[in-house]
Amino acid sequence: MKNEKDLQFETKVVHSSYNSNKHGECLTPPIYQTSTFTFPSMEQGAKRFSQEQGGYVYSRLENPTVAILEDRIAQLEEAEAGLAFSSGMAAVSAALMEVTKTNDHILCSKGVYGCTFGLLQWLKDKHNIQSTFADLGSEEEIKRNIQTNTTCVYIETPINPTMQVIDIPLVTSIAKEKGIKVIVDNTFSTPYLQKPLKLGCDLVVHSATKYIGGHGDVIAGVMAGNADMIDNIKKTVRKDFGGVLSPFDAWLLIRGVKTLAVRMDRHCENAEKIAAQLKKHPNVKAVYYPGDKEHAQSSLVKKQMRRGGGVLSFELNGSYEDAVHVVNQLQLIPIAVSLGDAETLIQHPASMTHAVIPPEQRVKMGITNELLRLSVGLEAWEDIWQDLEQALNTLSS
Ligand code: PLP
Repeated sequence: MKNEKDLQFETKVVHSSYNSNKHGECLTPPIYQTSTFTFPSMEQGAKRFSQEQGGYVYSRLENPTVAILEDRIAQLEEAEAGLAFSSGMAAVSAALMEVTKTNDHILCSKGVYGCTFGLLQWLKDKHNIQSTFADLGSEEEIKRNIQTNTTCVYIETPINPTMQVIDIPLVTSIAKEKGIKVIVDNTFSTPYLQKPLKLGCDLVVHSATKYIGGHGDVIAGVMAGNADMIDNIKKTVRKDFGGVLSPFDAWLLIRGVKTLAVRMDRHCENAEKIAAQLKKHPNVKAVYYPGDKEHAQSSLVKKQMRRGGGVLSFELNGSYEDAVHVVNQLQLIPIAVSLGDAETLIQHPASMTHAVIPPEQRVKMGITNELLRLSVGLEAWEDIWQDLEQALNTLSS
């Protein structure tokens, strides 16, 4: 076989980081459902603990099924190493704990996922780690918001749920000059559409609950970055805070990620079509979709993303009550938070995923009461549109 690094993405998702000869010739990676591992002798046990000798010790430290997933994620993100966690938030919190200490400052994209916002608030209350939310749209704006104690720039791009895009090379080049680490939450794009490490960032985090898993049946997080940083997180925050992924959940992700490329192509195709239809509907005020040629940042999207992804948001010509009304009329599309599943899902960020953010700040982030977020699934796009259209038509225009 070619060197794994030279394989194409569509091949890597299926084959990389797994050699059946090392796992009983099983075509599908086995689930090593064990909490602990036996040592052939007292001496060898001691050597594994002191790391004088390799080998598994205990599944909170390392597990063979989880390791296959971690190595595959590293291959997909073109990173030196990967690491898996029990949730996306366990990955996000481990990343932030790695790059900050008491009294440091974090510069953040204008919008972040609600629980990430909650975590930043907690870091401030508990450890006096302040954060600033800024547009990060220009060199001046980024530089203006960097403080002497800034140790981390944390960004989501596209931002959940406003779909604003941040110029990763611009952010990383400025941060690098000042020795500041950059973390990118790549959940919305996946490594198929965007590779932040190649654009200069230090750590990539994901809610693997979303596209990486892809089937709405697992809560998980993953991270990728350079070997030293990942090894340090593995031996400190992940080991001692203990947010590890179970072997069975790792197996679900190994299975799910095999179809990532084909799923993403279909998610993108469907989202492009739904965005185009929504833009024409009289009860829709605005559509925010990075794959839309008229998206305010379409040239930046083209520069750093392969396609626009499967998530879009749209604002109704109406009020909060109208948003409630439209969502309640849907017959095919379930009302649910999360995204990246086979099913199209709709949710209302202001009252659901981003409800924890104070209303004034929420509006500044662009999350209005009339904004709905749609994770466009894998169904026939005509059926998705038919359901949305009949719901939108029940509003008087
Ligand atoms: N990051 C983003 C962009 C998310 O949308 C989410 C969850 O919705 C998370 C992180 C947290 O992931 P999890 O729910 O797997 O903990």
